[in-house]
Amino acid sequence: MNTGKPLVMADGLTKYFPLPKGKKVHAVDGVDLTIYEREIVGLVGESGSGKTTFGKTIIGLLPKSGGTVSYRGETLPQRYKPADFRRQAQVMQMIFQDPYSSLNPRMTVGEIVGEGLKLHAGLSRNDTRDKVADWLTKVGLEPDYMSRYPHEFSGGQRQRIGIARALILEPEFVVCDEPISALDVSVQAQVVNLLEELQGSMGLTLLFIAHDLSMVRYISDRMAVMYLGALAEIGPAKDVFFNPKHPYTEILIASNPEPDPETERQRLSTTIAGEIPSPVDIPAGCRFAGRCPHAMERCRVETPQLLPLPENTDRQVACHLFA
Ligand code: SF4
Repeated sequence: MNTGKPLVMADGLTKYFPLPKGKKVHAVDGVDLTIYEREIVGLVGESGSGKTTFGKTIIGLLPKSGGTVSYRGETLPQRYKPADFRRQAQVMQMIFQDPYSSLNPRMTVGEIVGEGLKLHAGLSRNDTRDKVADWLTKVGLEPDYMSRYPHEFSGGQRQRIGIARALILEPEFVVCDEPISALDVSVQAQVVNLLEELQGSMGLTLLFIAHDLSMVRYISDRMAVMYLGALAEIGPAKDVFFNPKHPYTEILIASNPEPDPETERQRLSTTIAGEIPSPVDIPAGCRFAGRCPHAMERCRVETPQLLPLPENTDRQVACHLFA
């Protein structure tokens, strides 16, 4: 049981994308998740499970379709105005997946990393420069790099620049959206170690979105498993990894992860029977029933709720096998 204070709380968080003829993509479908101070929660699931949309919605980069997000007990707006973005950027930030496209190629590294400071802290030019130099050093880069452009750097160095940009305002909560999946395997561990080190020294709270379950197990306190916009299972990361309860988690973990997301998507679609259903037409009952080897009649009509296991209330599973 986590005894820290709740920092971010999603309550019935929903994000739909409207389609013609009244249809909609149910990208995130009523997720309840409390993330505690200084905690690292790993969020895993196949491509198309809604992980990234959940991350963007919880920090306000996408407007919510329903439900609420509260931060230190204060309910955040449904849709952010520019002033909300400025205020929230000082406490919540995001590190993006692709270090190649997430940095503006026409801006210098100094401008990229220092951009947030100009918007939010009103520092002098010299103070901004000193702070950028300090942050480049903290992420393992040379302060002189601030006059260079993103194309002059490797993927790992660009992700370090992205980390400095996200952390320079010293936020409390950071969503890391697949921060290592676009990197060579040889630099993935370096970036994860850097994030872990900064998390410890700054007391950060992280939502770490990834498809590499071994990496999530390594870095996270708790692991949450998402399937078709809903949580299937959540619990202490090691318990979930070594003793998965939900049939989807079991299959996900039994499959060896591939570093390349496209290879991973193809491999999972062959390892787990059938295709992930369309998020436009969510199946009735359990959304995993069409692919689950344990599906029963009840599973096709009754939606399982995410409930604590009777023998271990730290763990919650949405499956009729445990209810
Ligand atoms: Fe499988 Fe039924 Fe559990 Fe869904 S509720 S995961 S279909 S056993």
